[in-house]
Amino acid sequence: MSASIRLCLFAAPGVKLGCQLRPGTTLCQPDRMEILTTANAWQRLARISDAEGRVTAWTREYEAGFPTVFDVYYSAWGDRGRRRDAALRAPELTQRIRAAESRARVLLREAEDDFRDRGLVCEDDLHAVLLVGGHTSNGWVAEHAGQRTLFLALEFLGHPPHDDLLVVHELTHVAQAQLSVATRAQTYPASLAVVVEGVATATTRVVRPGLTDSAYLWMDEGHHQWVDRCRASAPKIATMLLEHLDTPDDADAVAPLFRNVTDQHVPARSAYWAGDQIAQDMLQQGYALRDLLSIAEDDARTWVATWAAAHLRTSG
Ligand SMILES: [Zn+2]
Repeated sequence: MSASIRLCLFAAPGVKLGCQLRPGTTLCQPDRMEILTTANAWQRLARISDAEGRVTAWTREYEAGFPTVFDVYYSAWGDRGRRRDAALRAPELTQRIRAAESRARVLLREAEDDFRDRGLVCEDDLHAVLLVGGHTSNGWVAEHAGQRTLFLALEFLGHPPHDDLLVVHELTHVAQAQLSVATRAQTYPASLAVVVEGVATATTRVVRPGLTDSAYLWMDEGHHQWVDRCRASAPKIATMLLEHLDTPDDADAVAPLFRNVTDQHVPARSAYWAGDQIAQDMLQQGYALRDLLSIAEDDARTWVATWAAAHLRTSG
């Protein structure tokens, strides 16, 4: 067993990084991402012709085959109330799910290659789960089996190029967890959450250039006016951010900044726009993507406070 130390492309000469190279593999070609999929089991479920039998099998057979995956799903974005409808609709989605799974595998592989080439992930451990759920969310990152794991819901993968942006955005969150201890927490101070989402958005801009703000910030083309409203609301967004730099990001007080919650002061989810502005500013100032992915909590607080103070002033 003569495993040697792999030198990553971004490392300075002589610097050893702690990634193990398996015997027989090529230098700087680490293990591929480990992908767990529920799609085959879902296809078996979809072939059950009796509708009520399919509803029963959704829980007893399909979900029961992946208990840890669905524990994570229902602790985050999943909704058990959607099971019945998802089971009833399954037969009409079989072609789409088959195509989405193939496409997701290609996108994950391409994104992993791009991140490794740029030195944005070094650890061999990259984990993804492809699941078919109840039509509640498209992609997210969560702890699964002790690993920070990229989850993609195949029924909501979307269309090119937005599906690709989703994969790159979520893989950025996995990379952040490898490089920044602060981002491994369950809950962040709002200022860190702003920067984490802004960096994921700005990284996607760099890795997949040439698309619209709406595409990078919403994975669709339906939010150009939202971008305009965020720009016009910058002083109000800045005021809210300064009041809540240390507020937990899941608190109701900051819900309009991070969630699809309407508020009379700021556009819903406008912290994503502000974070993207902040991350783009830092890149223009000469920070590398890897610096942004390695963000410490104090630095995130300073960056958000500085940006917000500057945009308060623009309000006169
Ligand atoms: Zn995100």
